[in-house]
Amino acid sequence: MRKTLLWISCVLALSCGGAGVDQPGSDVNPLLTDYGTPFNVHPFDRIEPEHFLPAFEEGMARQKANIEAIVANSEPPTFDNTIAALDRSDELLEEVSRVFFALAGSNTNDRIEDIQQEVSPRLAAHRDSIQLDPALFERIKAVYDRRDELSLDREQRYLLEQLYAQYVRNGALLSEADQARLREINQRLSELRVAFNRNLLAETNDYKLVITDEAQLAGLPPGVVATAAETAARAGLEDSWVFTTHKPSMLPFLTYAEDRDLRRQLYTAYTMRGNRDNDHDNKATIAEIVNLRVEKARLLGYDTFADYQLESRMAKNPENVYVLLDRLWDASLPVAKREVEEMQAIIDAEGGDFELASWDWWYYAEKLRKAQYDLDDSELRPYFELSNVRDGVFYVANRLYGLTFEPLEDMPKPHPDAEVFEVFDADGSHAAVIYMDYYPRESKRQGAWCGPLRSQNRADGVEVDPVINLVTNFTTPTEDTPALLSLDEVETLFHEFGHGLDGILADVTYRTSFRSPDFGELPSQIMEHWAVEPEVLKVYARHYETGELIPDELIAKISNSRFFNQGFDQVEYLAASLLDMEYHTLTEPTELDINAFERATFDEIGLIPEIVSRYRTTYFAHIVGGYAAGYYGYIWSGVLDHDAFGAFEETSLFDQATARRFRKEVLEPSGLRDYMEMWVAFRGREPDIEPLLRNLGL
Ligand SMILES: [Zn+2]
Repeated sequence: MRKTLLWISCVLALSCGGAGVDQPGSDVNPLLTDYGTPFNVHPFDRIEPEHFLPAFEEGMARQKANIEAIVANSEPPTFDNTIAALDRSDELLEEVSRVFFALAGSNTNDRIEDIQQEVSPRLAAHRDSIQLDPALFERIKAVYDRRDELSLDREQRYLLEQLYAQYVRNGALLSEADQARLREINQRLSELRVAFNRNLLAETNDYKLVITDEAQLAGLPPGVVATAAETAARAGLEDSWVFTTHKPSMLPFLTYAEDRDLRRQLYTAYTMRGNRDNDHDNKATIAEIVNLRVEKARLLGYDTFADYQLESRMAKNPENVYVLLDRLWDASLPVAKREVEEMQAIIDAEGGDFELASWDWWYYAEKLRKAQYDLDDSELRPYFELSNVRDGVFYVANRLYGLTFEPLEDMPKPHPDAEVFEVFDADGSHAAVIYMDYYPRESKRQGAWCGPLRSQNRADGVEVDPVINLVTNFTTPTEDTPALLSLDEVETLFHEFGHGLDGILADVTYRTSFRSPDFGELPSQIMEHWAVEPEVLKVYARHYETGELIPDELIAKISNSRFFNQGFDQVEYLAASLLDMEYHTLTEPTELDINAFERATFDEIGLIPEIVSRYRTTYFAHIVGGYAAGYYGYIWSGVLDHDAFGAFEETSLFDQATARRFRKEVLEPSGLRDYMEMWVAFRGREPDIEPLLRNLGL
C-alpha cells in the first residue's frame, strides 16, 4: 500500500514538470476523476486529506445546480422531474461524504479532524439551504398533494410521503425568521458534534496505565500480559506493561487483575473521559447540544426533542419508549441486586474487608461465572480465533442467503490493516465488496460499526452495487498468538455483519433511505442468535492450535451461562437509555449541570452504585450522533430480533422459506418501506415482547 502511494506521488511530481517538490494530488483530485479501480471502489490509496475540501465544494456546487434545475423546470412538477431528480441530486456529495466520514471514524489524523471541523457547519448550511428552499418545497408539495392520482409503486409512494414529511420536519413551513434561527441552530449543532467527538478521541488516547512492577500483573493470563508488553513497546516504554481505556485492553484487566487499586484507577480513567475540567471536557458541549435541541424541537412545534425524533420512528412517541424501558428496568434491577449479593458473598468468604465497587464488577463476575458455570473466558478464546469466527459469519450468510465470499488482494483500502472480500450472490453474480477492519488504534474511535460506503440503488437506471465498511475494536494478535476473541467480540462480529447484510442485500431503486435505530438493529441483532447456536459453533469454533472443534461440554457451558450477568448487562444498558431519554424530554432550555443531572436521573430510577451507566454523558457518542433519543433502539429492536428469530426456531435454523421472507420483507426494502409494514409482512402479526423476556431470563 505504502509503495503504491509513493509511486503515484512520484509520477505526479514528474508530470507537474519535475519542479522537485513532491506535491501529491496538486492537479488531479482522485475524488473528482474516474476512479479506475476494481468495482469502482473508492481510490483510498490516492486520496490525501487536501483532496477533500475541493471535492466537498464541488459536490455541494453540483447539488446546488441540480436543485436549481429542478426548480427552474418549466414543466409542472411530477414524481420524475422533482422527487426522483431530487433523489439523484447529491450523488457526488454523498460519495465524498461517505469516504470522508469513514476515514474520520477509523483512520483519522489532525488534518482530517481540522477538515471535519471546517466542513461540518458548511454541510449543515448546505443541507438547510435545500431543505428550506421555498420553491423546491412548493414543487414537492405539489407532487405530494396529487399522490393518489399518480399510480406510484410502493417504494415511490413511501419515498414521496417520507420526503414531504422530512421537509416539514426540517422547517419548510416555518416563518422566515424562525427558519433563520433554525439555520443557526443546525450550524452550531454540527460544530458541537465535531468538537465532542474530537475531545473524546483525545481523552481516550490520553490515558495510559503504565505498570513497571511485575507483581502488579498478578492474575492476568499470559496473552493479556503479552499484549500489554507490546502496547508498551509501541509507546516506546521499555520493561513496562501498558493498559488503556480501549475495551480490548481494559476489560481483560478489570476481569483478571488482582490489584484492586489499579482496577480502580483504570476504570475511573474510563468513566471520567471528557469530565476532567481540562481542555477536552465535554460537559459544556453536551449541555449546549441538549439545549439547542430543545429549542429546535419547540421551534418546530414539538414539546420535546424526543417527540420530534420519535415521530418518524417505529416507537412513534416517548411514552411508548418509557413503557418498554420501565418494564425492563423493573425486571432487571432486582436481578442486578442479587448479582451484587452473590459477589459480595465471594468477597466476604475470601476475607476481603470491603464492599463491591463498580471497578470490581468484572473481577468478581468472572469468579462467579467460574463457580456457577465452571466457564472461564480464557478457556473459550482459543476456539474463537478471528479468521475462524469470520468464516463462521460467512457460513451463516451462505446457509441463509446463498452468499459466498472471496478475498480480494491489492485493493485500495480505508486503512492498510483492513481485509477486503468480494461477495457473490447465490447465482454467482457479483453482490458487493466488503472491507473488514478489526483492531484498535489511535486513529480509530471506540466501538464497532458497519455501513455502506456506497449504497445499492438503480436511480440512474444502472444497477449500483454496494460497498460495505465494517469496523471493530477487537483483541489484537500478539507475536505468538493470533487474535483470540471473547464471546462478546464474537457476537459483535455477527452483529456488525448483520448490518452489512442489510446493505449487501438491499434491493431498491432510489438512493434516499429513511432508517431508524429502533428497526435498524433488527438485521444486526438477529445475527447474534446464530453465533452461539451449537450447530453453528460446531462449524466455526475450532481450536487455533489443534484444529479441534469446540467440545460439547463447552457448548453446554455457554448455553447454561446465557443468563449469567444479565442483571448487570440490562441495568448498565437501560440506565444509559433512560439518561438519553431524560436529556431529550426536557421541555425548555435549562442551566444544565451535567454531573448533577446524571446523579438526579440515576437516583430517581434507583441505579445501584456498583453499576455505572454503560455510557456516561461526556462519552455518550451515540446520543451526540444519530442515536439521540434513540439509544433505546437496541432493546426495541431486541423485542423484534428475539421474536423474529422465533420464526427460525419454529421451523429450522436455516429454513429457506423463512430466510427468503426475511430477505425480501426486511432486508431488501432498505429504509424505503414502513417499519411496521415490513415487520408484519415478515412475521404475520405485530411484535411480541415475550420471547425477549424469556431469553433474558427476566
Ligand atoms: Zn448495531
